[in-house]
Amino acid sequence: MQKGKIGVTTENLFPIIKKFLYSDHDIFLREIISNAVDATQKLKTLASKGEYSGDLEDAKVKVSLDTKAKTITISDNGIGMTADEVEKYINQIAFSGANDFLDKYKDDANAIIGHFGLGFYSSFMVSEKVEVITKSYKEGAKAVKWSCKGDPEFTLDEVEKEGVGTDIVMYISEEEKGFLEDSKVSEILNKYCKFLPIPVIYGTKKEWKDGAEVETKEENQINDIAPAWTKMPADLKDEDYNNFYHQLYPMAEEPLFHIHLNVDYPFNLTGILYFPKIKNNFEVQKNKIQLYSNQVFVTDSVEGIVPEFLTMLHGVLDSPDIPLNVSRSYLQSDSNVKKISSHINKKVADRLHQIFKDNRKDFEGKWDDLKIFIEYGMLTEEKFNERAMNFFLLKNTEGNYFTWEEYEKLVKENQTDKDKNTIYLYTTNLEEQYTFVEEAKNKGYDILVLDDVLAPHLINKFEQKYTDKRFVRVDSDVVENLIKKEDSPKEALTFEEKQELSPVFQAVCPADKEFSFIVDFQDLGETSLPMVITRSEFMRRMKDMSETQGGGGINIYGDMPESLNLVVNTTHPLVKKVVAAKDKKLTTQIEKWDAELLAKKGEIAEVEKAKEGKKEEEIPQADKEKLDTLNSELSKIEETKRNKLSDFGKKNKLAKQMVDLALLANGMLKGADLDKFVKRSVELIK
Ligand code: ADP
Repeated sequence: MQKGKIGVTTENLFPIIKKFLYSDHDIFLREIISNAVDATQKLKTLASKGEYSGDLEDAKVKVSLDTKAKTITISDNGIGMTADEVEKYINQIAFSGANDFLDKYKDDANAIIGHFGLGFYSSFMVSEKVEVITKSYKEGAKAVKWSCKGDPEFTLDEVEKEGVGTDIVMYISEEEKGFLEDSKVSEILNKYCKFLPIPVIYGTKKEWKDGAEVETKEENQINDIAPAWTKMPADLKDEDYNNFYHQLYPMAEEPLFHIHLNVDYPFNLTGILYFPKIKNNFEVQKNKIQLYSNQVFVTDSVEGIVPEFLTMLHGVLDSPDIPLNVSRSYLQSDSNVKKISSHINKKVADRLHQIFKDNRKDFEGKWDDLKIFIEYGMLTEEKFNERAMNFFLLKNTEGNYFTWEEYEKLVKENQTDKDKNTIYLYTTNLEEQYTFVEEAKNKGYDILVLDDVLAPHLINKFEQKYTDKRFVRVDSDVVENLIKKEDSPKEALTFEEKQELSPVFQAVCPADKEFSFIVDFQDLGETSLPMVITRSEFMRRMKDMSETQGGGGINIYGDMPESLNLVVNTTHPLVKKVVAAKDKKLTTQIEKWDAELLAKKGEIAEVEKAKEGKKEEEIPQADKEKLDTLNSELSKIEETKRNKLSDFGKKNKLAKQMVDLALLANGMLKGADLDKFVKRSVELIK
């Protein structure tokens, strides 16, 4: 028997492994099994070169759990090791600059393991003793058993072993006994080893028989040795891609598209990315892109490797150029990784463009599910934005799709305003803005549907980029004013007329914390609606943006009441009826007030005139007082007049009814107000 000390330059190796590598204990199985897979593949390579002629038919890796002996054993029939090789590969661990490095990465198990090539030693994270029983493929090699109890001491003995290959026996320590659970082992194997290129066997298959699970004799292979991404695209059908998708995410819905990546220069990268059909946010979080290195699972947090907007995609990436043990800090500084990211960006855009060209109908059919990814990409990646303009689609209320170029052609002539801006009309909700959409359609305009959460941001982006285009929501003004084709349209009322009518209609606007109303008068023609409620594009956008941006701090626009316009159609017979009723009831009084106002104004003018040219101290005190009195009398009369008009408005059922109808058309009449409206309507038609 040979005894010795493991050749590390620091005595601290084992304490470090145990102490610092706490977070990712699961990976010991991945490390030991991928060593076994490597050893097996090496022997296969040797055999193919004629340097080994032994039996290779049944090359596989076996995982066995022995709960009584408290061991997990990984057995392979790979190249094995001679005693010298055990000495060289297992005992002498290169260990330079260790302390500095450990200090820096003490919380990052992957980085430590990766840096030191401690793959094999990760077994000590969970074991109190590890044995390596191995027999080299080389002629006349003797089997040896290496044993170590987690301190720098080891023993090396010659033993009997039947076949070529290696068994790694891990005696699981008391505090890690969770790893002796069958379900735990299965879970880890499923996570890390599902697509390893050599069969990995764990126990036997189970079957349901008479309501109970029973063991069969058949070996339970836990991995698919040739997953779809390792094959050539030409050899795969759509069905194969979908099957593989479900292999990855059994519960997910059919994906929209796949993108098969196959790069060998300037780096190696294969993989399949899927555009998923997302039902809710939860699934975005759950099903992630999986990153592999030569079919060994590395991680499912691919930030930094994949452009941010594509991290919502599903699928796998496999690159031997990405080190098995990735750490965040490592990834961010790696130039290969950066190249991969920009390559994926381009590849995805190219592929989408291709699908669009090859089968536009199909692409359009999927657009509504797809657009959220594309829009997100356009907003966050300028390069992608440029490429995406080839296949980004605008959908109108008729359900037709247009590229940016096509749409421009469609509306340019009819929807360009007097300032040469082309106005892209849109709705964010076909149901709620139905009346406005219809009005605009009747006018011969085309209306886009921009109804997702990113649309407001995208609109901003477009307007910044294409300065001769403006997006205007259909309900931001009455249809006549949506696209202003001539200068200042004629005013419907004089200033005085407006002053007189405003209080009447202001009085019937809902007094609400959420909204504030500005009454405006326009000649919309007899056949248009008597009243329309519009919301200014600018104010609404400010509010929308501040809502989607969220975040802390003061949200001025979000907290302000929404400012709405009540546009009263002065030519509508019903409005005229209200005006006539007001005239009938109040004309005599109004004439009286107006006469009083006129008189007061005359007196004020006189006093003002007397003041002219005088310095403040030269004006007699009596004049100053008189002016104050006159002014306050004037405001009193004005107030009385306003109040009377307002009182009239409040009692006018027709005015109230018209406002309610306008509110109703905007989906804004609710609760008690709606109830009152219904009852009043019944009253009116009785
Ligand atoms: P790495 O795999 O990164 O080289 P490890 O510590 O995991 O580092 O393994 C060190 C070496 O030990 C391997 O390179 C290999 O030569 C040898 N080795 C480990 N496991 C086996 C095995 N199952 N069969 C043959 N050789 C092995």
